[in-house]
Amino acid sequence: MQIKCEFYDYAYKNWYQLEIDLDLNVFPCCHYYTEYMENGKLNDAISHIDINLKTNSLKNILKEYTKILNEETWKNTVSIKEFDRLNEMNNGGNDLQKYLQKKGETCPPLCMKICQTK
Ligand code: SF4
Repeated sequence: MQIKCEFYDYAYKNWYQLEIDLDLNVFPCCHYYTEYMENGKLNDAISHIDINLKTNSLKNILKEYTKILNEETWKNTVSIKEFDRLNEMNNGGNDLQKYLQKKGETCPPLCMKICQTK
């Protein structure tokens, strides 16, 4: 399975663009921002990071994002079929994240859901 991140520059190995809201929260992409707006909280994959520019530097935020969102973790996916099956298990996002980490599959579920190409 492949992830094609539209916000990452694969040639320069760096973020190509980011999403910053009016409160100065930095999101890795519009998908994480949209989910934040819908749920009123950060996605589990990034909730441990201080993403606000009033209390953290852009350099640190990008460093933290790059630990979990990078070419290696994007390779560690499950198939869309398995992803759907796990979602149907009524476990909620946290259990799915734990399941994936246990399997050594560390690609954030939102990236798989949105940007998995095949
Ligand atoms: S969801 Fe993940 S893979 Fe997709 S654009 Fe955002 S960071 Fe990149």
